Amino acid sequence: MKDTIVLYPALGRGHLLSMIELGKLILTHNSSFSIKILIPTPPNTTNIDTTAFGCDSSITFHHITTVSSSTATLPPHLLAFDTCRRSNQNFHHVLQSISKTTNLKAIVMDFLNYSAKEVTNTLDIPTYFYYTSGASTLCVMLNCPTVSKNTKNSLIQIPGLPTISSEDMPEAALDSENVFHNIFRDLAITMRDSDGIIINTFDAIERKAINALKEGLCYQEKGMIPPIFCIGPVTSAPCVEEDRNGCLSWLDSQPSQSVVLLSFGSLGRFSKTQLKEIAIGLEKSEQRFLWVVRSDSDEESLEELLPEGFLERTKEKGMVVKNWAPQAAILSHDSVGGFVTHCGWNSVLEAVCEGVPMVAWPLYAEQKLNRVVLVEEMKVASALKESKDGFVSATELGNRVKELMDSEKGKEIRERILNMKMSAVEARAEGGTSCVALNGLAELWKEEDHLMLYSPNT
Ligand code: UDP
Repeated sequence: MKDTIVLYPALGRGHLLSMIELGKLILTHNSSFSIKILIPTPPNTTNIDTTAFGCDSSITFHHITTVSSSTATLPPHLLAFDTCRRSNQNFHHVLQSISKTTNLKAIVMDFLNYSAKEVTNTLDIPTYFYYTSGASTLCVMLNCPTVSKNTKNSLIQIPGLPTISSEDMPEAALDSENVFHNIFRDLAITMRDSDGIIINTFDAIERKAINALKEGLCYQEKGMIPPIFCIGPVTSAPCVEEDRNGCLSWLDSQPSQSVVLLSFGSLGRFSKTQLKEIAIGLEKSEQRFLWVVRSDSDEESLEELLPEGFLERTKEKGMVVKNWAPQAAILSHDSVGGFVTHCGWNSVLEAVCEGVPMVAWPLYAEQKLNRVVLVEEMKVASALKESKDGFVSATELGNRVKELMDSEKGKEIRERILNMKMSAVEARAEGGTSCVALNGLAELWKEEDHLMLYSPNT
């Protein structure tokens, strides 16, 4: 029977794609494994066509029918937690049937699927978590029980992180009334009890946070620390076929490193007022731009959403597309020289891998914290200042974009991120930190009785 590693992504295409990349990476370090990826699939939906993912025969897919709440519509992350918990019985059946025909060595689950660990506990399967954001946010998450007490409007010290203002903390970490607070606490406890945490980061970008995790400084209670494996950066390959809007061919006609990309993740959308302000700021900056616009009023056209005449006036310098563009491919294009980002971790890693300096404009989830890390620790972005209600003025946006693309400060940021790009290549190369971590993981999984053998972090 073949040694098998099961990967269990959270609900949603983005989570699935991250796991597929992880699966491919595991195979490059040990091609004797077979990888089974379980795809959470809501009832009455068509199974995803897995042939499009370009995986070889060592990676196979298995759809798990999910059970979701019949009541309220939940926000995306809450839906993922809730659906996973409700689907545990189906997950149990699937694991039982897989272990009849394969030598099931370990399961790696998305951290959002933490409640599925109840199942792997009963089946006694070594369980690892895949944390798809950075080590710094994991430090905060694992600290969650400690920072909840008296921390409104204050400065917060967490091992491995710069001092953080409570304003920049994810709300759930501070507010014990927040619906996510207890979830984060349970998640922290469950991850701590796992056989290991795999993180999509690498030493050169988050050294202090990674050390704090490895030394167990982030846990409120001391004791056994799960091994930490930093195996990043893992990013999806740029997908050129998605260029339905012609962004890449437009970039072909622009000078090298002259264009700033504005793109805000899968959920980032703005009010009409904010969109108009961005447009004015871009015109003021006098820079070339490629802007992916998503708005609260989906049905309105770009002409309706943007200031009158904007598209016509800027047509020589700018391209505006609605809703979606192939971001990774755009960032890898030679004409792109800057990136206004919402600081989602995948976007950050894509920018690092391509050496594109950033302006940080966080919008939701842990992104304000990522801004602190990008600006103060990694020093590869400048911070956009928003007002209390999150609004960013045209002047602020215009100034930051101009500064990034056309100033000494911008040049320094570019040099630093180019060094990080090299460090990312080194981390993944033979002998690099991420390569060594992956080899270590593969070795561990090959061991029959590795549960008894795992060594403390070094
Ligand atoms: N993305 C894209 N086109 C878009 C917006 C996003 O290809 O128009 C991709 C982006 O390259 C990244 C992912 O979607 O890989 C967004 O992940 P991230 O962690 O940055 O943000 P999230 O969407 O999770 O907030």
